[in-house]
Amino acid sequence: MGGKILIADDVATNRIVLKVKLGAAFYETMQAASGAETLANARASRPDLILLDVEMPDISGIEVCRTLKADPVTRDIPVVMVTAFRDMDRKMAALGAGADEVFWKPLDEVVLLARLRSILRAREAAAELGLRQHTYRDLGFAEPSEGFARPAKVALVFRDAVTRAKWASELRPYLNDRLMPMEPDEALADPAGAPPPDVFVIGADLAESGGGLRLMSELRSRHGTRHAAICVVLPAGAADTAAMALDLGANDIIELDADPAEIALRIRMQVTRKRQADRLRESLEDRLRLALTDPLTGLHNRRYATAHLARMAERAMETGRTFALMVLDLDRFKTINDTYGHASGDAVLAEVARRLSTRLRPVDLLARIGGEEFLVALPDKGLGEASAVAERLRRALADRPITLPHGQGSLSVTSSIGLAIGQAGAGRISVEDLFHSADKALLAAKHDGRNQVTIGRSAA
Ligand code: GH3
Ligand code: MG
Ligand code: MG
Repeated sequence: MGGKILIADDVATNRIVLKVKLGAAFYETMQAASGAETLANARASRPDLILLDVEMPDISGIEVCRTLKADPVTRDIPVVMVTAFRDMDRKMAALGAGADEVFWKPLDEVVLLARLRSILRAREAAAELGLRQHTYRDLGFAEPSEGFARPAKVALVFRDAVTRAKWASELRPYLNDRLMPMEPDEALADPAGAPPPDVFVIGADLAESGGGLRLMSELRSRHGTRHAAICVVLPAGAADTAAMALDLGANDIIELDADPAEIALRIRMQVTRKRQADRLRESLEDRLRLALTDPLTGLHNRRYATAHLARMAERAMETGRTFALMVLDLDRFKTINDTYGHASGDAVLAEVARRLSTRLRPVDLLARIGGEEFLVALPDKGLGEASAVAERLRRALADRPITLPHGQGSLSVTSSIGLAIGQAGAGRISVEDLFHSADKALLAAKHDGRNQVTIGRSAA
């Protein structure tokens, strides 16, 4: 993966040992010999990660971390702290200052490298979301709101009921979140309607050795839990399993006999991150949806239709089936606007969209591709069936007048439809050719007196 790591340690030999180890793992390294130097370097060169010694002569590493996390320029740089003292208070202070992880010296190289990989991977994912966030902001979209901080759901998944209950009761004083002790099977159950847990704390030794890692992979592969944070619980010293768990996608490793205060802090950290990522993802999805739908009718827009048609054509070529494309244009729509006003024209468009959509299958594509122009695509339909559908759509509009708003009475609206069939088998189906053919047929329908379906030359 690579990346630029700042090694901050006042002891030169420590820095050199780390430089060699990280260099061998293809990281680029920089060095800082004091707290002040660390702060200056972090601001100036923005490393991807800082490996920060807690014990430094000028400013303590914990203070350095707090300062980095308070500065918008350096806030997002992950910090991994290293300390020579196996001291709980120090570890808690470091985590509390915003460190992503705290390691005791001497460092276990395997776990350290796996942890760096996992942190850098998470950072890359966050950066990608953040980057798109910037792009959207540049385009003038608003920032997503912070949202109300609901308590999170935290699943505690252990093999035996006693351990589950013990974790729940020990963590309860430290967390306002909903603690849900559960069996491994329950973790995979999908209770309808209920949102899945935000965090899964999973004992590594579930049903059998390695069962926890398998459960994690399963959760990662499922739609509902794909974005959940996962903490794997391991006995101290299980370096290889810890490294494997991190490489398989665990967000954090928790030692089996860790202090409940530390465990709670780690869970809170995961909740905060997940919430942040969820918010960004949701706002991106909203914007995507907005970018692909027509606000007046709620139908897909031209941009979406273009992409979807290309996929339909591909599928038709794979399966050797045909598919139908039609372009529908309302007749003399301008006069409706001119006579009843633009708002009434809008109401007619919305009703037309409703009538069309209720007469199509879910697999069919219906999009508004222009002012009063709609596109309909029917997968797996040949000429006979597609003509029947086109005729049905035409009649759905023409046979029953549309009621206008504001007591303006009702109005008969007709449409002209051009239909073309994409024939697989004779090589590539060109969506452009097909569209062109449907459009020409539409013109012919207009020319021949409107309120009719015309079939275009088949585009093979
Ligand atoms: P033709 O039968 O030849 O299709 O005649 P037409 O009047 O429907 O065709 P033309 O393309 O000349 O006019 C389309 C009109 O649709 C022009 C425009 O004012 C109107 N229009 C386009 N978009 C909207 C919209 O979003 N709302 C409303 N109310 N009118 C729209
Ligand atoms: Mg028209
Ligand atoms: Mg038109």
